[in-house]
Amino acid sequence: MKSCCEIDNAASRHSCCDIKVNEDTAICKECNGKGKPAREITIESLVKEPQLEAIESPDGFYYCETPTCGVVYFNNERQVYLHKEDVKVRVGIKETESPISICYCFGWTQERIFEQIKQQGNSTAVKEISAKIKSGECECEIKNPSGRCCLGDVNKMVKKGMGP
Ligand SMILES: [Zn+2]
Repeated sequence: MKSCCEIDNAASRHSCCDIKVNEDTAICKECNGKGKPAREITIESLVKEPQLEAIESPDGFYYCETPTCGVVYFNNERQVYLHKEDVKVRVGIKETESPISICYCFGWTQERIFEQIKQQGNSTAVKEISAKIKSGECECEIKNPSGRCCLGDVNKMVKKGMGP
């Protein structure tokens, strides 16, 4: 089970948690960090048209998870490195200036979560996102650059916002 599902009990698994991903990793040549496999549908949805045409095929790409690395998707076999500017959306984990997107399906940003915490001492993000996921409204695989469910990241961000 993926990390986003661990905050819920097994009886209420999210549809997005059933997305089949292989858990191989590859090393990003620009940062030496690990990348996880990116799905073809994610690449097709989020890479800008000219770059998408240039890569010819969306298969075999990995998603670089290093916040400080400008590479978003890479394919070492074909020596293709797609950077932030080649992708249609802002990659939240790689941005330091607002808005820092975290949930791409329902528009949650770091600012929105932190503002809620400031106003009311907690954030409703996890609850609201979970409810929408359960009703089948999430489209992580075509909206989130990681192609995965955002809830694990949202959970981490709420914790960060709540402080120690
Ligand atoms: Zn990298």
